[in-house]
Amino acid sequence: MDGVKNLVGLSRAELEAELAAIGAAPFRARQLWHWIYHRGATDFAAMTTLAKAFRAELAARYCVARPTAARALTSADGTRKWLLRFADGQEAECVHIPEEDRGTLCVSSQVGCTLTCKFCHTGTQRLVRNLDAGEIVGQVMAARDALGEWPSPKDDRQLTNVVLMGMGEPLYNYDNVAKAVQIIMDGEGLSVSRRKITLSTAGVVPMIGRCGEELAVNLAISLHAVTDELRDVLVPLNKKYPLAELLDACRTYPGASNARRITFEYVMLRGVNDSPAEARALVRLIAGIPAKVNLIPFNPWPGAPFECSDERAIEAFADIVNAAGYASPVRTPRGRDILAACGQLKSESVKLRKSERLRLEAEAG
Ligand code: SAH
Repeated sequence: MDGVKNLVGLSRAELEAELAAIGAAPFRARQLWHWIYHRGATDFAAMTTLAKAFRAELAARYCVARPTAARALTSADGTRKWLLRFADGQEAECVHIPEEDRGTLCVSSQVGCTLTCKFCHTGTQRLVRNLDAGEIVGQVMAARDALGEWPSPKDDRQLTNVVLMGMGEPLYNYDNVAKAVQIIMDGEGLSVSRRKITLSTAGVVPMIGRCGEELAVNLAISLHAVTDELRDVLVPLNKKYPLAELLDACRTYPGASNARRITFEYVMLRGVNDSPAEARALVRLIAGIPAKVNLIPFNPWPGAPFECSDERAIEAFADIVNAAGYASPVRTPRGRDILAACGQLKSESVKLRKSERLRLEAEAG
């Protein structure tokens, strides 16, 4: 796509300004928006409500591009995982998880990550760069392409929910994430309502309030430990923003209510954070916050310094949290046959490419 500008990821105002610069009226931007985000068109020639000459002019200057799938895997349980490649060759993962009553798309916000959480595979990769708004929106569009879900259906969607829980820390790339979320929520386009969008953070406290005010999406906190001592180790960001500050930010999160609870994610690590005493401490910690607790069985990866808690420990933990009045669903592991741990597919792919390169070098002598 040399020399042409991708329109995906421009805000409505930016799209209008772009078209104004080539002499088109503002309502053209609205028509184009509809073609791009509601109909999923990638070819200007197909945009039949626009005059032919105008379509040709657009095609000369712009494209409507999404990331391409460098790899695509489908699990026996229906989970699909894509390694998406962006225009500069960088890659990030995107996962679709179909369930009885919904279909959730897990999107990435960065290539790599800076946080080095000890149980997270992406944590072993260095941060390469932030994704821009178009690359974040592009993940949703690429998934819609693969699911055959254009134009944006009103009901019976396979893609109903979006979670910013893929690679990266969304609140360390706030501007791009915010812009992308506005586009994803737009009712004349992809039209995923804010009630069905969840942003997950390891706890970038200074950005949490702004996220609630400006985006009003659901908030998920990767908690994983109930003492600063342990959380400092598992989620090193805790040293910067310790538990008390994080929970204060949750208590004042704009729009949190019993109808819109904050989700606390808690990865179950055998013998590390899974005791009944820790379950009771968790309940005390979140007292007064409209909350639910997602218990996530640890997804193992080669060389990981942890194991998943056994089923009985998870159940006992869940019972204690539940008895205190908090929903505490245990997340069923999904897609274990397709490199489930976040970041694993990307690492595998880098390894493959490296071995391919070595083989070629060997062949070349
Ligand atoms: N940086 C953000 C979003 C990415 S992580 C955050 O920390 O929330 C998304 C979720 O996946 C987090 O709750 C994280 O703790 C969890 N996670 C990462 N690696 C995991 C693994 N190997 N097994 C289970 N959950 C994992």
